[in-house]
Amino acid sequence: MRRLLATVLTALPLMAHAWGADGHQTVATIAAGLIKGTPAEARVAALLGDIPLPLAAIWADCVKGISPSQHYTYPSPGKYAECMPLETPARIAEMADYVKRNDKQCQIGMDEDSCHRQTHYADVALQRSRYRPGLVGTRSDDVVGALRQAILVLQGKPAPGQPNFTSQREALLVLAHLVGDIHQPLHVGSIYLDTQGKRVDPDKKGLDEATFTVGGNSLYIVAATPAPPVTAAPPAADGADSPVGAGHFGPIKMHTIWDGVPDKFNPDHVNAAWLAEARKIRSNTGDPADWPARWATQSLQQAALAFQGLTFSAKQGSHWTVSLPPGYNAKADAIKRQQLTQAGARLAFVLKTVFPD
Ligand SMILES: [Zn+2]
Repeated sequence: MRRLLATVLTALPLMAHAWGADGHQTVATIAAGLIKGTPAEARVAALLGDIPLPLAAIWADCVKGISPSQHYTYPSPGKYAECMPLETPARIAEMADYVKRNDKQCQIGMDEDSCHRQTHYADVALQRSRYRPGLVGTRSDDVVGALRQAILVLQGKPAPGQPNFTSQREALLVLAHLVGDIHQPLHVGSIYLDTQGKRVDPDKKGLDEATFTVGGNSLYIVAATPAPPVTAAPPAADGADSPVGAGHFGPIKMHTIWDGVPDKFNPDHVNAAWLAEARKIRSNTGDPADWPARWATQSLQQAALAFQGLTFSAKQGSHWTVSLPPGYNAKADAIKRQQLTQAGARLAFVLKTVFPD
């Protein structure tokens, strides 16, 4: 099954866009609004050149289009419309350079095939009340560690860990994306299930990899609340992991439900009122390099809410099916709105703190 998943991941380099491009661009649009007129705005512009912050915010996902098995080329330009502005020869070369340094140079985690991909998330068990290094589902190069690394580079401090950044520009491109990811609850909190679909605690029992739900990618939705209309096909007999968007009849995955944002949360909807709301978010204090762990704790708590009231089938091949309780979409949207707003505010806080003048 792991080999099969790896094959699918290789074939479809961009199947997992956390928050979708829209959510990331919303986060960056909020942050851009909040740093307007500050020294941070000028420093960001100097580093990014003609890449606006909302485009920078999807760079780390578009990087997944670089294929290590095809000599670090970008084999499918045009496949993802949002990445097209990044598909110039110079920008592809920049993405390839990053992937070459962050492909196999780490300890690769469960159901993963490259280092840079695994910097987008952690898989902390929902039973934990806070993020702590050493827990099952954490790594030194998980989303917390990678954000810390990017912030150290932007502070001009030594950053010997992973991912490897060669410039502040590269660190900023990755930061602008991962601040979004760490606020997507399923990019931090994960449910672990036994063959009967009962919750297990991997930190207490020791990790059994068969209980890993791949950040909700092995959880297929069977019945959803009214909107949006969801048709989940019967699972493939061999338990194959069908890609999202590969057809109208593929399974809808729990992870995908959480990556998506409704139209009303698109970047176009970031207006003065939303910015005013974001300005009310209180800044973290102390060293910004320590902030990502606190954001992860809060996201983990939101993940616990995201899994409240759900019921799971017994394991069927490589997945479980999930039933969502009534009213789930509205509850999810409220959490998404709050997390997007906080992510935007916090990205701005980091930028203002590392670029004070
Ligand atoms: Zn991501």
